[in-house]
Amino acid sequence: QRLKQMAIVDALTGLANRRRFDEVMAEEIRRIRRNKDPFSLMMCDVDFFKRYNDHYGHQGGDDCLRVVGEVLRDVVRRAGELPARYGGEEFAVILPGVPEDQALKVGERILTALASRAIPHERSDAAPFVSLSIGLASAQVDDERGAEWFIARADEALYQSKQSGRNRITLARV
Ligand code: GH3
Ligand code: MG
Ligand code: MG
Repeated sequence: QRLKQMAIVDALTGLANRRRFDEVMAEEIRRIRRNKDPFSLMMCDVDFFKRYNDHYGHQGGDDCLRVVGEVLRDVVRRAGELPARYGGEEFAVILPGVPEDQALKVGERILTALASRAIPHERSDAAPFVSLSIGLASAQVDDERGAEWFIARADEALYQSKQSGRNRITLARV
């Protein structure tokens, strides 16, 4: 049981790990495709995190990622929704059946909850505190839109959030 748990949980944050993320994405997309329901995926990336590590040390960086994990767990708690550590300082949130207006609200709640934790980040140009940039892809799942499509669209929107000042969420144009 413990080994099984270790295989799907990220040791640092306690969130689902990348392997679990890939499994759940595939399962949910398969399930949703039959119903033609909406599907939303968020990709989140900590702003100026290299500078955070350089300034506060790697341990400090790890503590920061743990808090980001807590915030995601606090905000994303409905059955079927899954926050995951995608890799490094990047997190993903799977929102099956959630349309874009609701998903945008979830994203805003994440940004607000993290801001209220107010983790000082003296070297950030985006905010005095640790912040995230988020990219959101929302669409109906059909034969052309699978896991890779959603990840690519969310990544593009994340890039837009970085370009336009960070500490914000951008909805992908689909
Ligand atoms: P941007 O705002 O554009 O996202 O800039 P950034 O500095 O956040 O992005 P960059 O990709 O340059 O740096 C990411 C850093 O995240 C570099 C890496 O050392 C750090 N990092 C990745 N995983 C971990 C981890 O598990 N612990 C710690 N402490 N740092 C990590
Ligand atoms: Mg990154
Ligand atoms: Mg980053």
